[in-house]
Amino acid sequence: MSVDFRSLVRQAVRDEARLRASLAESDIAPLLMVTVQLTGDMALLEAVAPHIHGPWNFLQSVPEDLQQRVRERLVGALKDFAAHDRPAPPPPPPEVLQRMMSAGVGQPVPAEYIPLLLEEMSFGEADTRSVGWTVDPAARRSGAFKVLVIGAGFGGLCAAIRLKQLGIAFEVLEKNADVGGTWLENDYPGCAVDTPNHFYSYSFQVNNRWTRHFSRRDEILAYIRDVVARHGLREHIRFGVEASQAVYDEASATWRVQWRERDGTTGSATANAVITAVGQLNRPAIPAIPGADTFKGPAFHTARWDHSATLDGRRVAMIGTGASAMQAGPSIADRVAHLRVFQRTPHWAVNNPNYHREVAPGHIWSLEHLPYYSNWLRFQLFWASSDGFHPSLHRDPGWPHPERSLNAANQKMRDMIIEYVRGELGGDEALLAKCIPSYPPYGKRMLRDNHWYQMLRRDNVTLETGPIARITEDSIVMADGTVHPADVIVWATGFQASKLLWPLEIVGRDGHSVRGDWGDDDPRAYLGMTAPNYPNLFMLYGPNTNLAHGGSIIFHTECQVRYIMQALRLMIEQGVSRLEVRPEVHDAYNERLDAKAADMVWTHPGVTSWYKNARNRLTVTSPWRLLDYWAMTKDFRADEFRVG
Ligand code: NAP
Repeated sequence: MSVDFRSLVRQAVRDEARLRASLAESDIAPLLMVTVQLTGDMALLEAVAPHIHGPWNFLQSVPEDLQQRVRERLVGALKDFAAHDRPAPPPPPPEVLQRMMSAGVGQPVPAEYIPLLLEEMSFGEADTRSVGWTVDPAARRSGAFKVLVIGAGFGGLCAAIRLKQLGIAFEVLEKNADVGGTWLENDYPGCAVDTPNHFYSYSFQVNNRWTRHFSRRDEILAYIRDVVARHGLREHIRFGVEASQAVYDEASATWRVQWRERDGTTGSATANAVITAVGQLNRPAIPAIPGADTFKGPAFHTARWDHSATLDGRRVAMIGTGASAMQAGPSIADRVAHLRVFQRTPHWAVNNPNYHREVAPGHIWSLEHLPYYSNWLRFQLFWASSDGFHPSLHRDPGWPHPERSLNAANQKMRDMIIEYVRGELGGDEALLAKCIPSYPPYGKRMLRDNHWYQMLRRDNVTLETGPIARITEDSIVMADGTVHPADVIVWATGFQASKLLWPLEIVGRDGHSVRGDWGDDDPRAYLGMTAPNYPNLFMLYGPNTNLAHGGSIIFHTECQVRYIMQALRLMIEQGVSRLEVRPEVHDAYNERLDAKAADMVWTHPGVTSWYKNARNRLTVTSPWRLLDYWAMTKDFRADEFRVG
């Protein structure tokens, strides 16, 4: 920011009418923060702070005259900076920053978060999570060193960007014909992100031009393609190549990765290190319901949407009610003859007024032209979707209603959602009873209501809650014998998430294989990234790194990539050929993790989900606060590894 500060300010005041119009459409909390940062006016901060009740813009009630005071003060400050060509003010001291942060989100922000937040907000516009060399190229002890990255979604691309910045030779293998991973594969109607986009994006590649607060799939894919173009990554990616096997060779301390191409040909390459970035949510799970293969009409999974299938005027059966169904169902309900939704267990869904809103043009202008505005907005969204309610996801041992909630805060959330859903359902108590889960809120992934409940009130939509017995060539037959004719089946039944890394076969040291070690549903790794017997193998979005309480998976990815780059740096600078996490470090971490998860909502006995395995062990999702994971992954520790 300091580099461009003067020109940014000059541009901002060039057209004062435009500036004022834009400020009127911008969020008041980040505007206040910018003003305080430019002026040091703590009296103004304290005057406005009591009216900011939470991190979302719809949680403020700042009176209009006070808002106007903030805007006037800001216009004056900007003009003053521009008139005197003054440089950026020094960053606020930590105690002021903490007060600003707390005021900006209407909640006390503990001091322990400040280093993390400063890194995420990146006031200086420095790329705060990049990793640099510690010795000159001439002093590096490794010769040719090559890394293979498997997957070109958000994770693999982040790794590729960092590898390229470091100048480490690498190649990305991607099974699809283009980049994007899950955002390429999912293009069902209504597909969108439900984490706010101004935070669900790389910290080093901020996009100020999102048209929606929660963007649709095409816009996210365009962002990913833009990142790839800016970093010149395409030439490093081999498309249409599906890695099938990775085998470690002890003698050379290298991995041999084999792949299959679309035309059936096979190939292989050798690398010193492998980074898997294959995602968790891209192998569709279709339940084995008897007779499913006899169905004569189109039948497809949400992640393999058949756009050639006619839905207009047809009777559509949609099986499953998770995040994908929540978006797809309401997006097709108005054009089908009848939508019959088959729900096995209900999900909790909250309302967010911004979910369907477009970003106001003035807000976009401020993101682009006002110093620090986008940083402060990013901080607010980070906070809003992060650790704030993590404590409320733990069981209170003295709580009298453990079957339906965990503690008083969790019960409050339960009551709040029920009231909201009751309103959406127009007081239809029978329908409400079908829609309200028996387990505590947050037990499964919390969804954002996409007009789902309003959809259920439509004349052409029916919610079925009984078990399905079988499928015939033209119907769904329930266990009670009821027959529901259907022309199309949409499987909104999720992914084979617990079978991590599958179907990639990974064979490590001494005959160890990932499937042999983990089985089908018991993956474990140190920090979700690395495991004993698999030297020089690093996983992105590996075991226990999915985020369920909040936050953006891109944040987790950036933490992981920084850690891995430090490991690779050590290998290259010190001529280390073999890096393998010590078993005791790995085991102790997993014991801590299991103990942490034991009293959390995801292991609640009333919850069934893909977050955990058949033995109720949390395997996919992280129990940690974002802050904890950030701290654990910030610095690679060689003493935790066998270095050879
Ligand atoms: P999901 O959350 O796993 O939901 C699958 C649904 O299918 C559940 O309702 C499940 O019921 C049901 N189901 C599974 N097997 C069934 C069977 N045999 N009979 C009847 N119903 C069955 O899958 P998803 O909706 O595709 O979402 C997966 C994940 O992808 C999400 O949690 C999220 O991480 C991600 N996602 C994100 C977005 C977004 O950002 N907006 C959108 C879509 C997906 P039970 O609940 O009873 O198991």
